Amino acid sequence: MTAEGIRPDFHADDGNCGPYRYLRLLGYGSFGRVHLAEHTITGAQIAIKVIQKMKLTSASDRANIELECKISQILSHPHIVEIYDVFETEEQIFICMEKVDGGELHDLVLRSPAKRFTESDARPIFREILSAVQYLHKNSVVHRDLKMQNIMLDNDGHAKLIDFGIAGFFDRTELLQVYAGTVKCSAPEILMGKPYVGPAVDMWSLGVLLYGMVLGQLPFEHEKEAMVYDRIINARFSFPSKVSLGFRRLLQGLLVVDPKKRFTLKEVLDSP
Ligand code: ADP
Ligand code: MG
Repeated sequence: MTAEGIRPDFHADDGNCGPYRYLRLLGYGSFGRVHLAEHTITGAQIAIKVIQKMKLTSASDRANIELECKISQILSHPHIVEIYDVFETEEQIFICMEKVDGGELHDLVLRSPAKRFTESDARPIFREILSAVQYLHKNSVVHRDLKMQNIMLDNDGHAKLIDFGIAGFFDRTELLQVYAGTVKCSAPEILMGKPYVGPAVDMWSLGVLLYGMVLGQLPFEHEKEAMVYDRIINARFSFPSKVSLGFRRLLQGLLVVDPKKRFTLKEVLDSP
């Protein structure tokens, strides 16, 4: 964001944001809230992520938000949430985006009767997520926080990827050294602080996400965080209930410690 992007005269309180009136909260983010808002003249509804700048205490927090704004604005894909506008005041940053009505994949899985999706229900959603990730990787973007809380479903059950809060660009000639994300969904090389290329860390998280959708729990769980780390860096997981051979092979290809041996997007797309 450049200085030209700042509108010092813009004032937003809890009730409105320019021509938009806040209707209700859609979710809580690490640095602020996401509101459902309605345009006071046209009635059009959007989602506005409001980031409180005072919560950005470190240089890396500020750099991440700058990247989130930059990256999310240049993307355009049917399974990635569309960003309409980004602007800031002295205190806040506003990310105005398409609102997605169906809820977080995480809640939908947990609220389903079996508390997990069947493989056939999970397959089309997972394919949509894969197409979004394929688009990101083709555009040299790594998401780094793929998990069920960051996948929204629309009213027709189609996936929309959100939250580019720790996304970044990668370049195959230079290794990345950003170690952020959600521990239980993070690749071993991230937890071990090893420099990495980029796409393979998303492939690992896709494995965790798919496992969670179909088995209703995460592959690496333990009450002690040290044990979670231990299980991840050794890729120690099992299948608590019956799954198809295809599913088992897919997970055994994705949750592989060595990123060079881990399944690529193409291998996953070719899997039944
Ligand atoms: P954080 O980076 O802090 O995790 P997110 O961007 O993931 O913040 O937003 C927090 C939550 O707000 C999401 O998990 C989701 O429930 C809700 N949310 C975010 N964007 C939208 C949207 N476009 N439409 C509907 N709900 C959203
Ligand atoms: Mg999030």
